[in-house]
Amino acid sequence: MPSNKIKEILSVSNPFFKNFRALTLKKVREREGLFLAEGLKLIIDALEIGWNIRTLIFSTSNIKSSALERAIAGTMSSGGFVVKTSDKVMASLTRRKNPQSAIGAFKQRWYQSQNIDLSKNAILLGLDRIRDPGNLGTIIRTADAVGASGILLIGNTTSPFSVEAVRASMGSIFAIPVSRMSEKDFISWQEQFPGFIVGTHLKSSLDYRKLTIRKPILLLMGNEQQGLPDSLTACCHQLACIPQIGHTDSLNIAVATGIMLYEIQRKTRFLI
Ligand code: SAM
Repeated sequence: MPSNKIKEILSVSNPFFKNFRALTLKKVREREGLFLAEGLKLIIDALEIGWNIRTLIFSTSNIKSSALERAIAGTMSSGGFVVKTSDKVMASLTRRKNPQSAIGAFKQRWYQSQNIDLSKNAILLGLDRIRDPGNLGTIIRTADAVGASGILLIGNTTSPFSVEAVRASMGSIFAIPVSRMSEKDFISWQEQFPGFIVGTHLKSSLDYRKLTIRKPILLLMGNEQQGLPDSLTACCHQLACIPQIGHTDSLNIAVATGIMLYEIQRKTRFLI
């Protein structure tokens, strides 16, 4: 391990950590264009698929791990900064009693909508004004699991690069292209979309299992409180509901997205 290039900082009050911790704030993340990701495996996976790491911080209790050596080598070879610290500092950076042994600051990556794969096998997901970071991270992870080709964040959404969203995505934020656009831009973008658009709506009488589906396909999911507005349902070729038997009004959006994506995958897996 080339320890001569690793800086050791052990004081929690060191200004370096103050600046690093500030990346938990949305305005600082947006200003710097960076975000935090915790965990050695996730950091190595991100480096291997070409994400740009600016800073790697690791705790001394992890000093002999070969995975750590790979993360350090990957950070150094991409010109990043490596800092060794204590478990106590890691706990304060992550606000966890049992923190991960490594944390990285990565450059955010937003895709232009024209760079999202719209080829004939594509499954795309559009999320209207999603507010909860845990829901967003869980959805990103599920979309990655079904092999979706991209996610469009429509309107004023929570950031996929917040600490909570990145944690809930379990590394899938590095694997799936994410693009953002206003509702107005989405409405003009979808006019060029060559495929089928399916929306979800509690008032639809069409059971999602009876949907006729063809690829490329875009699944549209509505805001947690308000559901899809008329302006977006008007873009859909079909609107489906997931029938409910019990007392609840609706499903959690991440659960509903999982059910829909797996139904789409099941129905389209043999279609080319
Ligand atoms: N009060 C909202 C409404 O009336 O639409 C509830 C929104 S729900 C919590 C958030 C999103 O999850 C919905 O817009 C829809 O995309 C999806 N969803 C939740 N339950 C669903 C169901 N049973 N059928 C279809 N979509 C559902």
